Amino acid sequence: MDTTIAAISTAVSASGIGIIRISGPESMDVISRIYRSKGGKKKIKEAETHTIHYGYIYDGEEEVDEVLVMIMRAPRTFTGEDTVEIDCHGGVYAMNRVLETVLKNGAKTAQPGEFTKRAFLNGRLDLSQAEAVMDVIQAKNDYALKSSMNQLKGSVQKAIKNIRGDLLYEIAYIESALDDPEHISLDGYPQRLMRIVEKEEKELQHLLKTASDGKIIREGIQTVILGKPNAGKSSLLNILVGENKAIVTDIAGTTRDILEEYITLNGITLKMVDTAGIRETQDVVEKIGVSRAREMAKKADLILYVVDSSTSLDENDEEIISLLRDKKAIVIYNKTDLEPVVDMEELKTRIQHPVIPVSAREETGIRELEEEIKAMFFGGNISFNDQVYITNARHKEALEEANASLLMVKQSIELGMPEDFFSIDLTNACESLGRITGESVGEDLVNEIFSKFCMGK
Ligand code: GDP
Repeated sequence: MDTTIAAISTAVSASGIGIIRISGPESMDVISRIYRSKGGKKKIKEAETHTIHYGYIYDGEEEVDEVLVMIMRAPRTFTGEDTVEIDCHGGVYAMNRVLETVLKNGAKTAQPGEFTKRAFLNGRLDLSQAEAVMDVIQAKNDYALKSSMNQLKGSVQKAIKNIRGDLLYEIAYIESALDDPEHISLDGYPQRLMRIVEKEEKELQHLLKTASDGKIIREGIQTVILGKPNAGKSSLLNILVGENKAIVTDIAGTTRDILEEYITLNGITLKMVDTAGIRETQDVVEKIGVSRAREMAKKADLILYVVDSSTSLDENDEEIISLLRDKKAIVIYNKTDLEPVVDMEELKTRIQHPVIPVSAREETGIRELEEEIKAMFFGGNISFNDQVYITNARHKEALEEANASLLMVKQSIELGMPEDFFSIDLTNACESLGRITGESVGEDLVNEIFSKFCMGK
């Protein structure tokens, strides 16, 4: 952390402006070597903190770009260090030339996530907040953005800190009582501890309960569309995609044809699985095989089962219906513009899932479908006012471990074990919780977490 680092913080593609960020003890020296104000008189090194300056970047005597320079002095900066941001023209070449000039004059290339890592190491953010920075950047819908903004503001940190603080108090109490039994009595203490542990356990379980919604908020609802050939799967997909300006992501993977499409409906993201299969083959169940459909259905959070209401159910339908058991599914009773052959009421009694009449041709019933999905996953509403959502798998795992340790404490109390047994498991619970906020993490984990960050963040 005694080095000064620099990176391009905006996307490296042609755009209006590009930002080169510098952080570290020598930031002000670096900028004063390469910046000249318009009149050439102003000394940037003496500039007041949190001020903006107009001028030019020079590589030796060569003028590189016209820029705005932001001067921010420690400690009131994102990293907690002296920081300079250079707004230059957003051309790829221009940004690279400015960065190159910065690097030539005393800064080192930043690792991915290194600015945020420094913010964490300097105590500007706890680990859950640092992770929220990436979540904000990657948010795909309104809920994801809101929950990660809350986390960034410290919602998770606060919830964990409270529980951990209470447990730490009990550990300290036990230790002091064991050290000084004459003055601190442990009479009746196990009963008191039991009540406290039960209260904290409830808090943990409450947080853990939010994790399944949290995962869905963050990653989207894994959705598959199933239906026999010509039921209207691709027509439905096109409507959902078309109406909602889908973000189509081509994930470079091992199989060339794995395509994941994100569709955002009412602020909820559907992560459509294997839409390539739907688009390219007319016949999902037959072509990909029942076993594959079964596998997809098993992994999915939501199955959209498209029924062609104008033809009778066949063996494909029977196979799909058998996959719907114990799953979240919506039956799309499609082609309502045609003469019905399948009886809707009968279908409703047969399949214990909501049935939504739709005409993909006439685009009716789509709004109702969206409402149904929302109701199914979030009971129709997500409130972000006081609710903390656990959206991070790492946090969930740590909470589960803490919960298991508290269970051990309870067991030790019930078995009438000596007090130092309590404090061992209480300490383990605190350690697990400390991994969320970063109070008890090793360097390796810290490095691993930040290595997944973007360059320049
Ligand atoms: P898939 O094989 O399940 O993907 O089905 P497609 O979406 O390719 O649709 C098969 C055929 O049914 C096409 O000719 C569509 O135009 C037609 N189709 C789809 N939805 C409707 C609908 O709601 N009403 C009518 N009348 N035809 C539909």
